Amino acid sequence: MEAKNTSETTPKVGLNFIEAIIEEDIRNGKNDGKVYTRFPPEPNGYLHIGHAKSICLNFGIAKKYHGKTNLRFDDTNPVKEDVEYVDSIKEDIQWLGFQWHAEYYASDYFEQLYQWAIQLIEEGKAYVDDSTQEEISRQRGVPTAPGIESPYRNRSVSENLDLFQRMRQGEFPDGSRVLRAKIDMASPNMHMRDPIMYRILHAEHHRTGNQWCIYPMYDYAHGQSDSIEGITHSICTLEFEVHRPLYDWFCKALRIHHPQQIEFARLNINYTVMSKRKLLQLVQEKHVRAWDDPRMPTICGLRRRGYTPESIRNFAETIGVAKRDNVIDISLLEFCVREDLNKKALRTMAVLDPLKLIIDNYPEGQSEMLQAVNNPENKNEGVRSLPFSRELWIERSDFMEDAPKDFFRLTVGKEVRLKYAYIIKCESVEKDAEGKITAIHCTYDPQTRSGMPDSSRKVKGTIHWLSAAHCKTAEVRLFDRLFYVPNPDEVEEGKTFLDYLNPDSLQIINAFVEPMFINTNHLAHYQFERIGYFCIDKDSSAEKLVFNKTVSLKDTWTKHNK
Ligand code: ATP
Ligand code: MG
Repeated sequence: MEAKNTSETTPKVGLNFIEAIIEEDIRNGKNDGKVYTRFPPEPNGYLHIGHAKSICLNFGIAKKYHGKTNLRFDDTNPVKEDVEYVDSIKEDIQWLGFQWHAEYYASDYFEQLYQWAIQLIEEGKAYVDDSTQEEISRQRGVPTAPGIESPYRNRSVSENLDLFQRMRQGEFPDGSRVLRAKIDMASPNMHMRDPIMYRILHAEHHRTGNQWCIYPMYDYAHGQSDSIEGITHSICTLEFEVHRPLYDWFCKALRIHHPQQIEFARLNINYTVMSKRKLLQLVQEKHVRAWDDPRMPTICGLRRRGYTPESIRNFAETIGVAKRDNVIDISLLEFCVREDLNKKALRTMAVLDPLKLIIDNYPEGQSEMLQAVNNPENKNEGVRSLPFSRELWIERSDFMEDAPKDFFRLTVGKEVRLKYAYIIKCESVEKDAEGKITAIHCTYDPQTRSGMPDSSRKVKGTIHWLSAAHCKTAEVRLFDRLFYVPNPDEVEEGKTFLDYLNPDSLQIINAFVEPMFINTNHLAHYQFERIGYFCIDKDSSAEKLVFNKTVSLKDTWTKHNK
């Protein structure tokens, strides 16, 4: 699949297809005009940008139609779930800017679900099956031919009731029996071929402890949980479309409130993976530092990287909702954060690859304070003072010895403006024995400082700088795409997604930053002028500043690849 890039993304006009369904329902007075959604994560990992799309959609729709959204943990698989995940999920949703109406757990409904299962057994719509997992899948067969009925399918109601109760009481080992819905072994939809409702699992649950040793399957728990909560529109991703007949079947068989399931295309982004299983593997096998490693597509990773809630919400809004799967180019996500940080980030100067610049005609031992604008996009942010002196650091790439004509930065004999300061002229170059440039010598024109008679004199280039005697050092972490191929889920024979990890996705450098960085307010956003957007990492301390690069000022990746 071709990834969509920024220019192909058209702004959303009118209603998306889910809003159209909802407005139709409201017009028809369905659910008394109420709109009640839910976000149902399984607490088996951290949330990622795909979940963010679902969150924005569910909460956004409820807000738009004056409804409510529940947070429901789909905790029906005790083996993989944990409170650590529950806590992180709540933190991430709130950070994104949403507040749920109520917090529920599918496990809150275990007793009700059990009672409903009894009801289905009594009505001859469910039975206990002693077949093994393999036997059951063999009986199901293939979609093109009817399946085979289990030899246990026609057990009496009383036998089923007795066995199911004993399953609950813990009499049987894991995997020895299941409860199945009695639907249609000939259905072309495999999900309707007597799906499993309950399995035996002697495992401790993070909420219900050892109270249960039978656990409901997703298909039996999900719709009924929606129903109990009075959800009107149960929005889920496309792979559940084939489950919808089953969702509907349970609601009808139980004669309970029947929410409408609506499916939309899940979000895929290139150069990353989005399955929780793979993300967990990256963490467990230490391919990344943690769930919140800034290279991860997790919400906590993006947050640590310097993404703002607004940028993620804008991204979700821009991509919209579709009924067909597609892949979104990661540069669109980067575009969204760049746009937001341009408005918010304070400007500062940093030198990542330093080269010494000496102003020969600036008096030794002298320094002065210059004024710099904190954010040209927001004058309320005011100005700050910058120390200037005879010895500066500039970016090595801003000097070139044999420069071509269109190089407007520094070269011998040419002039540039030092941002917020003076116009300087490069006079000579100092080299070491190997011929490596160790310093460049310049002269400055004192009349060209801001507010001076010649301050408006124009030169072609402006470069950033730091006073060597005043600046601070900082660790700067630079990130690249985690995978070097657009689709790491698509693997060649004999390989796994891990074979496509980009070995250069993290680069740690020592850089110079302005002396103003005395406090280390985590996550504060900055624009390193002419370079990109950066934020202060949580590893940062008064002794050691640590910055993460959020995104470069311009989309350099697209250029590289054209
Ligand atoms: P995984 O398959 O990686 O474990 P999941 O879909 O099982 O992910 P859940 O915790 O069940 O993860 O997801 C909670 C909600 O988020 C579901 O409604 C699911 O459809 C939605 N969701 C998950 N991944 C995406 C995605 N990539 N794009 C949009 N919505 C998603
Ligand atoms: Mg799931």
